[in-house]
Amino acid sequence: MAKIRVGVNGYGTIGKRVASAVAAQDDMELVGITKTRPSFEALTALRKGYDIYVPDESVQAFEKAGVKIAGTLKDMYAKVDIVVDCTPGNVGEMYRDQYKAAGVKAIFQGGEDHSLTGISFNSTANYSESWGAQLSRVVSCNTTGLLRTLNPLDKAFKVEKAFVTIVRRAADPGDSKNGPINGLEPSVSLPTHHGPDVQSIMPWLDINTMAIKASTTLMHVHTVVAQLKTETTTEEVIGVLRKAPRVRLVRSKDGIKTTAQIMELARDLGRDRSDMYEIVVWEDGIKVVGNTLYYYQAVHQESDVIPENIDCIRSMCKMEQDPCASIRKTNAALGISKN
Ligand code: NAD
Repeated sequence: MAKIRVGVNGYGTIGKRVASAVAAQDDMELVGITKTRPSFEALTALRKGYDIYVPDESVQAFEKAGVKIAGTLKDMYAKVDIVVDCTPGNVGEMYRDQYKAAGVKAIFQGGEDHSLTGISFNSTANYSESWGAQLSRVVSCNTTGLLRTLNPLDKAFKVEKAFVTIVRRAADPGDSKNGPINGLEPSVSLPTHHGPDVQSIMPWLDINTMAIKASTTLMHVHTVVAQLKTETTTEEVIGVLRKAPRVRLVRSKDGIKTTAQIMELARDLGRDRSDMYEIVVWEDGIKVVGNTLYYYQAVHQESDVIPENIDCIRSMCKMEQDPCASIRKTNAALGISKN
């Protein structure tokens, strides 16, 4: 089977990771990435051997800076089967029309609304819904985190109601624009958008969310309280989460007490960019009391959605019908294992 040709539009936190992940798959070809300015990231992309495509209005700036380009966005559209759009939230609408006009499929990210594509994607919860689709959207990092654990728990025990508090990182590590740099900022518009976003994939789930921005850049942390229909035990819940794809159990008593140690673990694992693609659940923080389940999980916002983008390409381009097979293939290429 010929390789699926992929272009990545927007080469920031998510785009650069999607590009590396596509390049690591043996059934995909990275045709190129786009940049709007000849920044250090453009130079790094060139050094990695990626072709750079730019909007018409940026051609001059690249030529002036002496940074080699392979063509314009239109040239890239002509060479790809699918674009993974990793531009900042809310610019998707303009690009959606361009992709449609060029006849290429497109995946958007969680900064766009579900209504932009009408289909949202998560590998374990609804892989098949994007089968052959022209457009889809990989939900945000927090939503991906919630789906990774709540979906298998719902399948095993039926989640009647979930209540989640999200402690959000204020900015990504490479970001110098966002804050707060010293303080905690509650999201006062309640419930936050995360619950409805989970419902774009699990519409039957009764879930409500609150969020607080915290002055950290490493990860988000969720506290989850779930009312279960089926009676169970803490051990059974641990068993379900141990088997759940892209969920990693860690123990506070082994020294992983904070998100700082999770990131240290990711560095020790030798992953690309020291990423932690899995949702990390503290095993010794899981507790069932009556029908109520309590747990904590951490989300590496820069990377948890990356394997989902790869699986979404396989579903939309009809490359692999079995979600488990795609998940296994992506995991193997990215070095994601349970150990
Ligand atoms: P980013 O700001 O790091 O990167 C965006 C990139 O797009 C930059 O390289 C920027 O130069 C480029 N860009 C800006 N305007 C453009 C335009 N008009 N055309 C083409 N390129 C343009 O953003 P990000 O954090 O990578 O977020 C991208 C998407 O992924 C958003 O929808 C965001 O909500 C979502 N997302 C982000 C995170 C995260 O934690 N960073 C996690 C999950 C999902």
